[in-house]
Amino acid sequence: MSALSQEAQSALPFYRPIAHECSLFEMAHAKGLPLLLKGPTGCGKTRFVEHMAARVGRSLYTVACHDDLSAADLIGRYLLRGGATEWIDGPLTRAVREGAICYLDEVIEARKDVTVVLHPLTDNRRTLMIDRTGEELVAPPGFMLVASYNPGYQNILKRLKPSTRQRFLSITFGFPDPATETAVVVRESGLDEGRVAPLVRLAGHIRLLSGMDLEEGVSTRLLIYAATLIAGGMPIERALQAAVVEPLTDEPEVAQALRDVIASVY
Ligand code: ADP
Repeated sequence: MSALSQEAQSALPFYRPIAHECSLFEMAHAKGLPLLLKGPTGCGKTRFVEHMAARVGRSLYTVACHDDLSAADLIGRYLLRGGATEWIDGPLTRAVREGAICYLDEVIEARKDVTVVLHPLTDNRRTLMIDRTGEELVAPPGFMLVASYNPGYQNILKRLKPSTRQRFLSITFGFPDPATETAVVVRESGLDEGRVAPLVRLAGHIRLLSGMDLEEGVSTRLLIYAATLIAGGMPIERALQAAVVEPLTDEPEVAQALRDVIASVY
């Protein structure tokens, strides 16, 4: 990780590094290589990209992908304006033109035609084809494509194809270690460390249940929500019901199992 002055560091969106992800991002950006972030929801992927974009001094275009998102949503389209048609760039095209960073969150959710667009951008051509206007944009230095996906959802139809995966450098994000997670939750919620520590312990217990009764363990984001409610004066039990139990399950038996885990920690 390159050394940043404390002043420069504090002006950036707060991100606490877990391993060597910052230096990997910096080098990928410098060399024009695309990067894929793998990991569960709410573990800090988006915050990491926001932090790194600011750190390398580039604008960031974030697109939350969904199953209706098409190539045109990323590239752009002709719109009718005052009787005339006008071409409007989509976020990917803007990022390519400006040499900015484009972050496709949950890229796997997007429609298939999106992958076709990404291929020539993620190899040495670094080219975006805009069929509708006939343009072929070559990405300038500074442009970087970052994508994320959550391999935890075991949906065979929604695996990223090897031909796409093998175009990206990749890094796995997990939940932070307890000391890091405690520091993050304290910083984001304002709750004191003494009251954050049991929350992080609780998360450790709940994450052991994931895969069995739970699709996924409790995220750092939910811990921050719980800590925020507690810092606001809500009784712990109520805060955990709203920020942990209810978001994790709809099943009454699983909810009871979670309350039992909570009771064993508190
Ligand atoms: P993801 O994109 O993986 O779904 P986010 O980046 O939105 O998750 O993370 C959720 C929240 O967790 C963020 O708003 C941030 O407050 C916090 N967070 C998680 N990990 C970190 C970290 N390493 N440093 C700083 N904040 C973090």
